Amino acid sequence: QLPPCRHQPQAYDGPSRDEVLALRHQYVNPGVLTYYREPLMVVEGNMQYLWDETGKRYLDAFAGIVTVSVGHCHPHVAQAVKAQAGRLQHTTTIYLHPTIAEFAAKLASKMPANPDGLPLDRTYFTNSGSEANEIAVLMSREFTGNQDVVALRNGYHGGTTTAMGMTAHGTWKFPSNPQSGITHSVPGYCYRCPLGLQYPSCDVKCAHDIKNVIEYQTPGQIACFIGEPIQGVGGAVVPPPEFFSIVYDIVRQHGGLCIADEVQGGFGRTGKHYWSHQNWGVRPDIITMAKGIGNGAPLAAVTSTGPVASTMTNRIHFNTFGGNPVSMAAGLATMEVIDAEGIQENAAAIGDLLIGGLTELKDKHALIGDVRGLGLMLGVELVKDRKTKEPASDAAAELMERAKQRGLILGKGGLHGNTMRIKPPMCITKDDAQFLLATIDQCLSEIAN
Ligand code: PMP
Repeated sequence: QLPPCRHQPQAYDGPSRDEVLALRHQYVNPGVLTYYREPLMVVEGNMQYLWDETGKRYLDAFAGIVTVSVGHCHPHVAQAVKAQAGRLQHTTTIYLHPTIAEFAAKLASKMPANPDGLPLDRTYFTNSGSEANEIAVLMSREFTGNQDVVALRNGYHGGTTTAMGMTAHGTWKFPSNPQSGITHSVPGYCYRCPLGLQYPSCDVKCAHDIKNVIEYQTPGQIACFIGEPIQGVGGAVVPPPEFFSIVYDIVRQHGGLCIADEVQGGFGRTGKHYWSHQNWGVRPDIITMAKGIGNGAPLAAVTSTGPVASTMTNRIHFNTFGGNPVSMAAGLATMEVIDAEGIQENAAAIGDLLIGGLTELKDKHALIGDVRGLGLMLGVELVKDRKTKEPASDAAAELMERAKQRGLILGKGGLHGNTMRIKPPMCITKDDAQFLLATIDQCLSEIAN
């Protein structure tokens, strides 16, 4: 049973689900991804819960797509958005407006320094994570005068031209968008070690592989390396703790800047640290962020040091919606909530509880091959056989369906779609976590029988 909830959803009197489906089939680009055999229609949200058109409630353990950081329609964020939308909904960055300056200053207050002690305190606002990554690469190429970019296999960086090139999952690539100037090194994915080795006797060879990639596949000097400190779409892949420091050192020896893609892992999601790269003790040159930044507002950003940011002054660059006052108000209010409501501490505590519970479920269910993650960025990889590790993609799809029927929304990822992704709004409670564990337990028992 879902834990009780005080929020009463409004009666839904909009178009029926069948009408919406028919309109969608006719008018929305059919390439747009939907989850579930019968796509779920959601009409209302409150904190960690969503409601469908029939009034059925769900625990949203995927937070949209890892986006609703502090809760659907969190009152402080909703109020800030309403107030700003009622006062000035749009202006571009060609005019001065207080929200953009205030939000950029607030972000700077959470930023680490680069290895030379220069603060990462200059932000460029965009509308999506893909766009933020495009700008980060552009700045790196301008700054270093080099062209080549190295990313990691199994990484996801977006769907625009360069971002799609950096993404390393065949599923997310289009044949008509060949990558140019982008190569990939192997990730620290111990459960499926790309080099067939075992940690720690492997000496983290996966991290050292980037030296070969740079020396064999580029002219030897690169513009940048981009990596997710924990791979999100790839299935909450947590690298060995020293992976990123080895990679960053090699990248810098070859003239490159280090970009931390914090689109999923930022804003306290991994619990202990505000930024997920801080779990690995490294200092990036550029941080890109989106998703959780505005609790669901269309907003993303790239933050770098002054010298790196100043590359953007070489040419005129502009984006119409970047720095939109309503998005800025959402971002500022979201950061205020993270600070005021112990959100990070909650992510750490509930994350530990979930990891513990999921690890117990692994002892019970042979379908679970691996449980991993940090804070509320968790993955449960399903396999048909623990020895061969053959991905159990069908079981993952079935688990999603059965969990939905019981009121639990999960995400999935990984190359074969066999990793359940558990990344709820960070206001989730202990009772929600118990419900989540019990539901996964029941569903896996049914699937195994
Ligand atoms: N980077 C990462 C790590 C992501 O997970 C995503 C989105 N899944 C992106 C970039 C792209 O963000 P957007 O969808 O906002 O373009």
